[in-house]
Amino acid sequence: MFDELTEKLEATFARLRGRGVLTEADIKEGLREVRRVLLEADVNFQLTRQFLERVEQKAIGVTQLRGVNPAQQLVKVVYDELTAMLGERQEGLKLSTIPPTVVMMVGLQGSGKTTTAGKLARKLKAEGRQTRLIAADVYRPAAIDQLETLGQQLDIPVYADRSTKDVVRIARDGIEQAKRARDRVVIVDTAGRLQIDAELMDELKRLKAAVQPTEILFVADGMTGQEAVRIAQGFDEALNVTGVILTKMDGDARGGAALSIYGITKKPIKYIGVGEKLDALEDFHPDRMAGRILQQGDILTLVEKAQSTFDEAEAKRLEKKVRKEGMDFEDFLTTLKQMQKLGPLEGLLKLLPGVNASMLKQAKIDPKRMKHIEAIVLSMTPAERKKPDLMNGSRRLRIAKGSGRTVTEVNQLLDQFKQMQKMMKMMTGGGRMPGFPGMPG
Ligand code: GDP
Repeated sequence: MFDELTEKLEATFARLRGRGVLTEADIKEGLREVRRVLLEADVNFQLTRQFLERVEQKAIGVTQLRGVNPAQQLVKVVYDELTAMLGERQEGLKLSTIPPTVVMMVGLQGSGKTTTAGKLARKLKAEGRQTRLIAADVYRPAAIDQLETLGQQLDIPVYADRSTKDVVRIARDGIEQAKRARDRVVIVDTAGRLQIDAELMDELKRLKAAVQPTEILFVADGMTGQEAVRIAQGFDEALNVTGVILTKMDGDARGGAALSIYGITKKPIKYIGVGEKLDALEDFHPDRMAGRILQQGDILTLVEKAQSTFDEAEAKRLEKKVRKEGMDFEDFLTTLKQMQKLGPLEGLLKLLPGVNASMLKQAKIDPKRMKHIEAIVLSMTPAERKKPDLMNGSRRLRIAKGSGRTVTEVNQLLDQFKQMQKMMKMMTGGGRMPGFPGMPG
């Protein structure tokens, strides 16, 4: 996400950082560079201009300050303005006081509307809100099938009626069913077209009037840059949408849509889709996203991810044990398994401050390597896992054969493990959680 934008901004700031004091000319030159980078990322021209005016005003003061790195202060000014451009604060889903809350999903065909309806339903269900999906896209027959398949996968009920093309009736009947079932939320998946057309907008307006949605979420393909913004305006004029979801942000989206859509429509980005899988939906936090773009890292998202994935009781048990008896390969295996649940390592590392695309390339993070490490540990006997010192030459050979890896790899892992044990001893003295072993260092 935003790799290119991030890399270019970083290069710009790195040049400024090289200078001790920043003159006004330095700042002007730096900001010209920032302007170019934003326009290349397909950010709206007007917004870019306003953004730079505000940054420049605030930045001039920076040249006069002493004692603090002026380039770093400039980054802070840019960070604040980027946050404002992305939407200021995080806004979650609004819920109506009388259930069910009705959420209408709108957007062009192929934007990811149906998939996102499923993702959102999954998220709400995980939060303990009983949710129902309504299939109101009657033109594309496969759309109903697609939603029903999603519902089955997620174990979430789907209301569909193939006997009619009257979407208002379908939505009303679906909501009636939801009321009887005491659902908390219903998500209405509506039809999309390849382009905005009057007939579709008419239908959506009628649907809106009939179901009185609390939220109308416009789903946009984040890869399409300013085109997404233009379409958002069209939908907003007709329907007065309440929020935006940007999909496909896992790809090489240049960032233009994310950086412009709030500024132009003033409608908050509520979520972003970051993959095809149904758990790939993230809350959108403007400040954290600005932090990611400027490589200040997104530790908070990382921590939340870890919290929702790690089994807390298990983590506590592990921490206590490691503190008392030190770490062995059994604990290592447990941690490795939990790490894998968190998702690809590369995605996690990107959330850390200062980790950029070129560093990731250098680190040669290979998901296969984690699998190899796991295979090696699994080939150890329980006694060996408890007491790594047992592993002499012949045992190492056996483990290598058993796991299909080389003896060198087994030796490397054992060496790394010893080092890690040493570090753990030092760290647990300070009362901290066991770290993340398995991170290539
Ligand atoms: P709809 O026509 O708007 O209902 O779009 P679909 O839900 O059928 O999605 C179109 C395509 O985009 C499908 O192949 C989805 O798997 C894919 N897609 C949706 N959201 C994301 C996302 O966040 N990331 C990626 N990589 N693909 C997505």
